Amino acid sequence: MADRYFSEEPLSGEAATLTGSEAHHLLHVMRAKVGTEIIVFDGGGGEWWAEITKLGRTDVELALRKHRAVERELPVDFTLAIALPKGDRQRWLVEKAVELGVKKLIPLTTARSTSSAAEPPAKLARYVVEASKQSGRNQLLEIAKPQTWAEVVGNFAVHTRLIAHPGGSTVESMTRDVNAPTLLAIGPEGGFTEDEVELARQNGWQVIGLGERILRLETAAMALVARLTVA
Ligand code: SAH
Repeated sequence: MADRYFSEEPLSGEAATLTGSEAHHLLHVMRAKVGTEIIVFDGGGGEWWAEITKLGRTDVELALRKHRAVERELPVDFTLAIALPKGDRQRWLVEKAVELGVKKLIPLTTARSTSSAAEPPAKLARYVVEASKQSGRNQLLEIAKPQTWAEVVGNFAVHTRLIAHPGGSTVESMTRDVNAPTLLAIGPEGGFTEDEVELARQNGWQVIGLGERILRLETAAMALVARLTVA
C-alpha cells in the first residue's frame, strides 16, 4: 500500500491541497518530490490515487488521479460504549478500536466512572486519523458525545446489546442475529453497579463474562470486539 494521507477538506474534482501535519510529514519527514504518488482519503469513504504537483512551504498540492470506492469496514456496524480510561490508555483504546473496525465509540458515564478523563476531542480525532492511515480504513470511527448509562441502556433496540460484567454468561452462550449491528458496553475501573446491570437485563441486554480474571477495561473491550467481529 502506498503511503496514506488524510485530507481535512472533503476531496472532489481534480486537485486538492494538504495542509498542517500531513503536509509537514510529506515535506520534512518523507522529503517528497513533485511526481510522488500517494493515497489520500477524507474519511467520508473511498480513496484517491494522487500525484504531488507542487511543494509549498507549509502545504502540498495534489492532482487527484483516480478515485477508488474501496472500503475496509466490518460487514455489520459495531458500536462500543465505554467509560474511557485515562491518558495513554485512552489513545491505545481508540487506536485498537479503529484497527478492529469499530464504527462508533460512545464515551460512557456511569455511577462509578470518574469524570473529566476524556482527552480533548481534537486529540482523540487525531488518534482516529493516525490509526485509519495505518490500517487502511477510509471511513473514520465516530466518537460520539458522552452519554450516561441511562441514555444508552434504553436505546439501540435494533442492536444486539451486550454488557460486559464479571460473572456474566460466556460469549458462546449468547444469542445473536449476525446481520444485526452490535452494541457492546464496558464499565469503568470500578465496574458497573448491580443496579446498572439489572437495568440492562430488564431492557433486553445480555450480560457477558470473560472468565475468572478481572481485565483492564480496554483489554476487556478489545478481547470482546475481536471475538465478536468477522473480517
Ligand atoms: N472491579 C470491577 C471490574 C472492573 S473492570 C468489578 O468487579 O466489577 C472494568 C470493566 O471491564 C468492567 O466493568 C467490565 O465491563 C469489563 N471487564 C473486566 N473484566 C471482566 C470480566 N472478567 N468479565 C466481564 N467483563 C469484564
